[in-house]
Amino acid sequence: MSPIPMRSLVRGFKPYTAGLSIDEIREKYGIERVIKLASNENPLGTSPLVQHTLETHVGLAFRYPQAGNPRLVKAIAAHHGVSPSRVIVGDGSDEVIDLLFRICVEPGVNNAVAFMPCFGIYTTQAALCGVELRQTPVNADFSFPWDNLLKLVDDKTSLVFVTTPDNPSGYTPPVAELETLAKALPDTCLLVLDEAYMDFTDDEADYSLAKRLDEFPNVIISRTFSKSFGMAGLRLGYAIVPEELADHYWRVRLPFSVNLMAEEAGIAALQDVAFHDETVRVVREGRAWLTGELTKLGCRVFPSQSNFLMFELPADGPNAASLFEDLLRRGIILRPLTSYGLPRNLRVSVGTAEENTMLINAMRELL
Ligand SMILES: *Cc1c(COP(=O)(O)O)cnc(C)c1O
Repeated sequence: MSPIPMRSLVRGFKPYTAGLSIDEIREKYGIERVIKLASNENPLGTSPLVQHTLETHVGLAFRYPQAGNPRLVKAIAAHHGVSPSRVIVGDGSDEVIDLLFRICVEPGVNNAVAFMPCFGIYTTQAALCGVELRQTPVNADFSFPWDNLLKLVDDKTSLVFVTTPDNPSGYTPPVAELETLAKALPDTCLLVLDEAYMDFTDDEADYSLAKRLDEFPNVIISRTFSKSFGMAGLRLGYAIVPEELADHYWRVRLPFSVNLMAEEAGIAALQDVAFHDETVRVVREGRAWLTGELTKLGCRVFPSQSNFLMFELPADGPNAASLFEDLLRRGIILRPLTSYGLPRNLRVSVGTAEENTMLINAMRELL
């Protein structure tokens, strides 16, 4: 048969690189207990209330979810104290990001701007949409050079993405810098603040504009149920956006992309405040402990307000790729950062106290 018909940008498309799965490693190395610290998932697992909700709704799997997920939208709006007309939900933040490109950026005319390295979904979805994504490197300490970012912005820029806390570094800019940026951008341009990890910061008020959106009409806040709410496998993300954008989002989104189980689970997750609080407490405690222990092992640990840490290994030991492999053999999965263009660094998600200890013990032997 002649070649399958295909858009030229799909041929040779570079896919998103995900963290390795527990099953892959179990099979490959024949290890029973595998610890995954690669995808910034919740160390406490799934909330008991979410589990209960899933069990009680499983019999409704034959029904379509209600188009537009109105109950979920209302619950999220109440959680943030904003109007439901400003809340959009998606099949993970990934879908929200994808649709922002498709709604806001005219391919070949408009452009989008982000730092480099950035979350892989920005680059894959911009590419698939045929959108020019302009990028400028972060500073050597992974803080943000705003002037360089602003130099990329012109009157054709539709979206500026800022991930805060940033992935993979954990760096989190002070909120005053975001205010300055939001005000410096032309009002034809939306500032997308990807706050997937904002719940883990020491004090949100120091880092987030989420409670002050009335002052910043061009700011979008994107969040997810994947991390602090422990629902990565259910795929549920959301954003608070200008009302006009929300209206158009619902027109173009696939009508049932947030499934019935994710919808019910999301409503339950917002109610389980105790689980969420405990998650944040365990992550902050583990983050501080891991920072100390990795530093004692001679690693350069980058300051993080997130549920993960990026670190560089000491120069006199194994390199990142070989340490990553050696840890895999012991059933511990970290995240190599080659796909982020950082081959010398590794990223570790904060686990339970036991998981963190097992990692440090293994590293002590390997370094
Ligand atoms: C994990 C993550 C998300 C969340 O993605 P989901 O599709 O909601 O699972 C969004 N942005 C960044 C930067 C992330 O690391």
